[in-house]
Amino acid sequence: MQTRSGIAVSPGVAIGEALLFGSEGFQIPQRFVSVDAVESEVGRFRAAIEAVSIGLEENQRVASERLGDEYAAIFGAHRMMLRDKKLIGEIEGLIRTKCFSPEFAASRVLRNYAKVFQNLGNPYLAERAADVFDLEKRLLRALLGEKRPELSHITEHVVILAHNLTPSETAGLDPEFVLGFATEVGGRTSHTAILAGALEIPAVVGIGNFLADVSPGELVIIDGGRGEVIIDPDEATLEKYRVSLESRKQENARLAELHELPAITPDGVRVHVMGNIEFPQEVEHCTERGADGVGLYRTEFLYLGARTEPTEEDHYNAYCRVLESMSDRPVVIRTLDLGADKVPASGASFYEVDNPALGLRSIRLSLRDTPQFKIQLRAILRAAVHGDVRIMFPLVTTLLELRKAKMILGDVMEDLDDARIDFNRDVPIGMMVEVPAAVMLADEFAREVDFFSIGTNDLIQYALAVDRGDPNVSSLYRAGDPSILRLIQMVVDAANRHGINVTVCGQMSSDPRFIPLLVGMGLRTLSVTPISIPEVKDIIRHVSVGQAEEIARHALALDIARDVENYLRGELSRIHPEHSPVD
Ligand code: PEP
Ligand code: MG
Repeated sequence: MQTRSGIAVSPGVAIGEALLFGSEGFQIPQRFVSVDAVESEVGRFRAAIEAVSIGLEENQRVASERLGDEYAAIFGAHRMMLRDKKLIGEIEGLIRTKCFSPEFAASRVLRNYAKVFQNLGNPYLAERAADVFDLEKRLLRALLGEKRPELSHITEHVVILAHNLTPSETAGLDPEFVLGFATEVGGRTSHTAILAGALEIPAVVGIGNFLADVSPGELVIIDGGRGEVIIDPDEATLEKYRVSLESRKQENARLAELHELPAITPDGVRVHVMGNIEFPQEVEHCTERGADGVGLYRTEFLYLGARTEPTEEDHYNAYCRVLESMSDRPVVIRTLDLGADKVPASGASFYEVDNPALGLRSIRLSLRDTPQFKIQLRAILRAAVHGDVRIMFPLVTTLLELRKAKMILGDVMEDLDDARIDFNRDVPIGMMVEVPAAVMLADEFAREVDFFSIGTNDLIQYALAVDRGDPNVSSLYRAGDPSILRLIQMVVDAANRHGINVTVCGQMSSDPRFIPLLVGMGLRTLSVTPISIPEVKDIIRHVSVGQAEEIARHALALDIARDVENYLRGELSRIHPEHSPVD
């Protein structure tokens, strides 16, 4: 049994057999082959060598014609390496003596060579490791075929262990069969992590290299609450987790009783707890848990799951579906926030830049591609006839951007008027506050919008200069950083000065520790992951506004994230001693 720790991103426990995907996206096959199959597997390996060698020869010929022999030589060197008798002997030796599959044997031998190059202490030779990885990739492709299997077609109960899952891949997972997943990369508020919460699949990300320690089909436990993956658990551990699954059920039953109770503090202050959704069908996760509305509908997921660009009717139908379930409760529809890690299948080249989070994403993209933006706005305005719709623009950084977006909205209304199409012209307009520049200009923005929604996921990454998806810096990504608390307070104060509503819709508001703090800072609306709604309500019903304000005062006086978070953890257990994570 081995336990590996990562970042807990979606609670719950999954116990099942591992399906593995390596860093190049190849499914990692069985490690062993049967004794009888050894010779035919050696034959398969030789055929792969032949195929790769022919491909390299062709590359060398083309490169030599286009660029000259000097550049083409690299492919010649790769061929020589591939045909090296010692290398082939080592791989075949492992297939014959240890019954390793050719894929596993080739990876192992080539990676050992790469490691040797990397450790020679010579920068020129260290770079040769990249050539070895390149060869490994070519060999695996020849052995396994080009394509990664469609994750959306999985029809057996499995736990997925992968180097990485993109948000589009995660969006396609079927929670009925994918019991849980764990990835080597990824951060707390990466969109893959957010989707795991949306699909309510237990998940751990940012574990670091661990796939080499697992065999396909091996039993694993994903503990999404603790952020642990247990490989090949012993009986006692399995039993412990079966008991934990049972107590989770009981805790869920206790919280289920709160579904219809409003979130009112003991001194009678009402807090609205809304749900964040990515897919229309998630609206049921909100209604089942007594949400006061949808505080954030991430509409870009309409693009990520689709093979073709959604039409106005696709948008309209998705929005009507949500509105129908929410009846008269508010639904905040955020316009497209594509870009950064949310790239549609037909990804354009501007997505492939060094710093996509600082690139052409979100409202910047909508303002550039106005026909696409107008299609969405038309659909929102038309759907708004059927319920309480509010429009929200993401990643607004300058006043000019906001004004341009509002002007385009005005144009769309004129078009609908001209075409005599029914729509609602009195839709409140709000913006995400998720860039420090927008916080600094919160007073100016507050004069021009009807509401703010603070996107702490991006606000933290942009304020602290920490990529929200990079596990290497996950320890620096802290919602409790004093600078973040002050930024939030500035936005709340500006909203109050101008009499507009303000919400927090980033993951911070789904974290129990921060609920008393946010209430104490003056927030009266929170938008959270649907699964967290009962828990958030439960905490609000245990903390008076007086207590919460005292907590906020104290937290805002601290100067280190760790102290803030420890203090808030302590206060939460004082306020609500029964509240404890089930795992
Ligand atoms: C945020 O940035 O906090 C937010 C809610 O938006 P997203 O996570 O979709 O970027
Ligand atoms: Mg954001």
